[in-house]
Amino acid sequence: MALSVKNLKAGYGGKEAIHDLTTTIPEGKITALIGPNGSCKSTLLKTLSRLLPPMAGEATIDGKPIYQMSPRAFSRRLSLLPQHQLVPEGITVRTLVGYGRSPYLNLWGSLGKEDEQIVEQVMAATHTDIIADKRVDQLSGGQQQRAFLAMTLAQETPYLLLDEPTTYLDLNHQVALMEMMAAQRDRGATVVAVLHDLNQAARYCDHLIIMKDGALMGEGSPQEVLTAEMLAKVFRVSAAQHVCPESGKPMVVVKNAGLTEQMVVLPDPGWKRGEKAA
Ligand code: ADP
Ligand code: MG
Repeated sequence: MALSVKNLKAGYGGKEAIHDLTTTIPEGKITALIGPNGSCKSTLLKTLSRLLPPMAGEATIDGKPIYQMSPRAFSRRLSLLPQHQLVPEGITVRTLVGYGRSPYLNLWGSLGKEDEQIVEQVMAATHTDIIADKRVDQLSGGQQQRAFLAMTLAQETPYLLLDEPTTYLDLNHQVALMEMMAAQRDRGATVVAVLHDLNQAARYCDHLIIMKDGALMGEGSPQEVLTAEMLAKVFRVSAAQHVCPESGKPMVVVKNAGLTEQMVVLPDPGWKRGEKAA
């Protein structure tokens, strides 16, 4: 069951980025998808959410090929918060969140009383109720991210895919988001999130999938996969796994970036070379 890909090949313009990926996202758990930039995390989520058709192999949801479902049925099963959003002009947060109800609307496309209630509940839960009447194109990056998250949650799907949901959020909202994911999981949802903070992943997620260059590098519990060897191989840092004194969960401590690619050292700028300003 759950979400699976088997011998998946996917990419862009006929060029493969994911070459042969087989993995399963366990049902009813929080899975973190981690890996360096360009490792195909977003490509995998786009494939699973039918935004990017596979070049070969298969993707299944609850044991069925994802393309066997009607678009409406699929959008009631799975929702995606994409990494990049086109910010719509001139609409309010409340209107945007209402778009999340599209899979449930009647022929006339208007929100019913229940839809409106769900929109209000989701805005309260994501702390977007205080900006409900503001225009989305006039919000800060983090506020926009919360508005799009609210839209995704309004879709009320048992599978929730979040691509870098914490990137623009302040610390308080990051923690709130991790707790929201836990609450969704505890209500039976399957949550997948692309995260860059390994300690947030280790603390809040049940399962990790580690990718690099479009290939699977490891999968399992945070304790199993966040080993010094893996961190060196995948992230090129010298790091160790410890136990978090607060949560008792695994915690990654980076010792040094000795394995990191060296930044190129720029030559001295003009003001340092003593050149006169023009
Ligand atoms: P990640 O999310 O892990 O940072 P992506 O899945 O976005 O990585 O990208 C994986 C690879 O696919 C990268 O080499 C990237 O350049 C390429 N890629 C991503 N999106 C596109 C696109 N729309 N067109 C062409 N190549 C793309
Ligand atoms: Mg990405």
